[in-house]
Amino acid sequence: MVETATEIAVSCVGVTKTYGEGQSQVTALRGIDLEVRQGELLMLVGPSGCGKTTLISVIAAILDHDAGEVRVFGEDLREMSSSRRTRFRGENIGFVFQQFNLIPTLTIAENVAVPLLIAGVRRSEAVRRGRALLDRVGIGDRWNTLPSKLSGGQQQRVAIARSLVHNPRLIVCDEPTSSLDHETGHKVMELMREVAAGADRALVVVTHDARIFEFADRIARMDDGRILSVTKGGPRPPDARERGTGPH
Ligand code: ADP
Ligand code: MG
Repeated sequence: MVETATEIAVSCVGVTKTYGEGQSQVTALRGIDLEVRQGELLMLVGPSGCGKTTLISVIAAILDHDAGEVRVFGEDLREMSSSRRTRFRGENIGFVFQQFNLIPTLTIAENVAVPLLIAGVRRSEAVRRGRALLDRVGIGDRWNTLPSKLSGGQQQRVAIARSLVHNPRLIVCDEPTSSLDHETGHKVMELMREVAAGADRALVVVTHDARIFEFADRIARMDDGRILSVTKGGPRPPDARERGTGPH
């Protein structure tokens, strides 16, 4: 490998994961080798069921893998104690879940503030920073609303704000623009790019949405638990030509 360890945000070598036992076993990851570089936005694409959510859950230290090695910012996830892993995740990783996972009884500003509250930030300060992030994703005026009062697209923006609020070095997103219209999707991706642009940061985005491929530095294609190829992203990949917006 040419890069030194400090330039790699995430490295997976031979990572496997099987769910269930016996007859009902499903192998989701069949030996994943993948590197995410610091400062890059890597998109992960592939058909439904190919293992995308499983892979990013492993990378985000939410799910244990079976074999192989996963390093995040140089640290081997399996060598950490479970309390150390929880702390490491809380300090370094932001996750946008496909199903949002918002807490229904908290206002959206409080939802966004949750990672800060867990980290021990004072409540008033945490909610203030939560509101600031809601402003940046375009729903600051609704800060005092419960999630159930919002559309799916607005809830998704709350989930994205929550993933960014504690300023994590690695942000992992499962289909972040799937409920968003074109313009909002672009705004959200611009915000994410801005956040990931820090030289010591990285962003992994699972998507089916060809309209946002232009935001990728690299695109990893996955099928049946394996990485098939990793290619350069950037403005105007051949299958994201529609709408004629073009690069800026
Ligand atoms: P994707 O996100 O690409 O749609 P997933 O990672 O969700 O794929 O799933 C990969 C495979 O693992 C699928 O066959 C799926 O049915 C299976 N799978 C995912 N989560 C579980 C689980 N908790 N228990 C059993 N099988 C699962
Ligand atoms: Mg999925």
